[in-house]
Amino acid sequence: YLELQAIRKNFGNTRVLDNVDLQIREGELVTLLGPSGCGKSTLLRCIAGLADPDSGRILLEKKDLTQLPPRSREVGMVFQSYALFPNLTVRENMEYGLKMRRASKDVMRRRSEELLALVDLEDKRDAYPQQLSGGQQQRVALARSLAVQPKLLLLDEPLSALDAKIRKNLRTEIREIQKRFKMTTIFVTHDQEEALTVSDRICIMNKGVIVQDGIPEALYNSPRTEFVARFMGSYN
Ligand code: ATP
Ligand code: MG
Repeated sequence: YLELQAIRKNFGNTRVLDNVDLQIREGELVTLLGPSGCGKSTLLRCIAGLADPDSGRILLEKKDLTQLPPRSREVGMVFQSYALFPNLTVRENMEYGLKMRRASKDVMRRRSEELLALVDLEDKRDAYPQQLSGGQQQRVALARSLAVQPKLLLLDEPLSALDAKIRKNLRTEIREIQKRFKMTTIFVTHDQEEALTVSDRICIMNKGVIVQDGIPEALYNSPRTEFVARFMGSYN
């Protein structure tokens, strides 16, 4: 469904992505787990079209995304900081992508009402982002990225700015929504507990390389390197 082939990216003399290969099945949630600076965001940005890889191919349903502008890639992305439009209401934020695609008022309204119900923010439809809590803003960001029915959802540490309790609730909520829509998703985090709870598969990244790729149990019980063991918390 999604296939990354030998993705490379340098910034100056630094190799940030070093021949990354990754395959993801339709409906799967794959987590990229790794320390700060290992290249997780850069990889997502390459997929979304916010950065260009120096070489390699990114195939989504066999189409090479590197040939397409960001808007045509059918990829949704949620960032660590909420990045909502501050001058638009919750509902307008959710409808924005559809408006850009010239959807009718009716379609936009129906879709935004569905999404408001999905993320349980029906009473906030006319509020502005700064009137919402962090967790609520992140639910709007999630709903907004789902509004245009992307083929792939990229979540770049969507929970890291939230406090622990909200983070736990929201990660369960995200996983339920992801399963309900069978949404193919890449989830980035550096929190191993979060990765263990939400993922179908986990890829451990270090210095621009995926060092181990497997189901959560395999990574936890059979880490191939000390680095993986330490990161999975199975090393002591
Ligand atoms: P974090 O967990 O802190 O978000 P990350 O794994 O997402 O880290 P990236 O943001 O992908 O890491 O950055 C990987 C490396 O690339 C870092 O060393 C970073 O300094 C460098 N880098 C990222 N973006 C740029 C840029 N636009 N110009 C130069 N260097 C960059
Ligand atoms: Mg990052």
